[in-house]
Amino acid sequence: MASVSYPYEAPVSQTLFDRASVVTPGGVNSPVRAFRAVGGTPRFMVSGSGPYLTDADGREYVDLVCSWGPMILGHSHPEVIAAVQAAVGRGTSFGTPGEGEVALAEEMVSRIEPLEQVRLVSSGTEATMSAIRLARGFTGRTKVIKFAGCYHGHVDALLAAAGSGVATFGLPDTPGVTGAQAGDTIVLPYNDLEAVHAAFHAHPGEIACVITEASPGNMGVVPPLPGFNAGLKAACAQNGALFISDEVMTGFRVSRAGWYGIDGVKPDLMTFGKVMGGGFPAAAFGGRADVMAHLAPAGPVYQAGTLSGNPIATAAGLAQLRLLDEAAYERVDAVSAEISGLVGEALTKEGVAHRLQTASNMFSVFFTEATVTNYDEAKKQEAFRFNAFFHSMLSQGVYLPPSAFESWFVSTAHDAAAIERVAAALPAAARAAAGATEEGK
Ligand code: PLP
Repeated sequence: MASVSYPYEAPVSQTLFDRASVVTPGGVNSPVRAFRAVGGTPRFMVSGSGPYLTDADGREYVDLVCSWGPMILGHSHPEVIAAVQAAVGRGTSFGTPGEGEVALAEEMVSRIEPLEQVRLVSSGTEATMSAIRLARGFTGRTKVIKFAGCYHGHVDALLAAAGSGVATFGLPDTPGVTGAQAGDTIVLPYNDLEAVHAAFHAHPGEIACVITEASPGNMGVVPPLPGFNAGLKAACAQNGALFISDEVMTGFRVSRAGWYGIDGVKPDLMTFGKVMGGGFPAAAFGGRADVMAHLAPAGPVYQAGTLSGNPIATAAGLAQLRLLDEAAYERVDAVSAEISGLVGEALTKEGVAHRLQTASNMFSVFFTEATVTNYDEAKKQEAFRFNAFFHSMLSQGVYLPPSAFESWFVSTAHDAAAIERVAAALPAAARAAAGATEEGK
């Protein structure tokens, strides 16, 4: 990477990154932020307003990451900020139950029919980890089916062939996860129901649950083929296993009721995060009341958290969810369609082989002509073209996810002016992608 020069330098961010690298491994608190896949200096952001982020060098970007999904109303939405300020004025954590967490749970349950009860936690990782434990406790079984390229947070048992940062860095698995922790995880190709049936056949009475991203966004956007989620649900029901739909990314983003609102397949358990926290650490798992009844203190499966249901996080999440009416989703869908359409046009004009994949208002670009239905196909794309594209966009003030294996996210705040800035940046970025070579990445 050393010989590659990037079109725009960021001296203040670089200085901060140098400082960070002394006291923090790799200089970041979550790997993909380090720009290692695309090279160059990660931008340290100092503020966000509507569709824009401003970095430490004073440069403004149209944000197409939206904090990896949560900021669906854009940054610093006045009503969310007001709710947070009011909550902060009352204190920051009590370690007792509070009305805010009840109201947030009620709002969630009212939107999603199979969500009869929820338990609040602080991260998506905690949500999936707890859902898996509950599924094992409820069924008395040990094995878990997951799909290659699906990311469910950094839960030991789920870090097998995972997406997101694990995909970005091409890690086969991770040191520190023991054979015992991963040995009960069966990893199957995504969108392959035959493989699921074969696994149930090979392990009768042993599989506690199947966990899947409701519509994957962590290997790029790879939606389920028609009937896939319904087939998973049916296979679980036939074999006494639970069907867990991970909606950490899609929940309250792709529709009012998340991906469930789109495909209507009823999971036994679901997991949430991102949008429901309004930019704060709030997440949840929930589902069938008879299953949730096995959770402490109602039942024997232990799960807890000092900051679970934190009053600031629940106030932010509730304010955000209450603003997310049908009109808001129509707006996000329209912005997504417009921007993804512009990206496609620009790449087509330059003759760049690409495929835009969408799942409602989530989308990503694969630099390949073939349809991508699973992780192996996703990895066949010419990711080096993405890197050239990314840096051109960045240098022109558009902030994309720094990896070819991530979804792009937009918000209600992306107005005509922001979209115009994206449109203006695309021709040069498409030319950069067209001219990219594997060596020059
Ligand atoms: N599940 C999915 C589908 C995710 O996309 C993520 C994070 O990107 C997680 C779980 C983990 O959430 P968190 O990063 O809050 O731990």
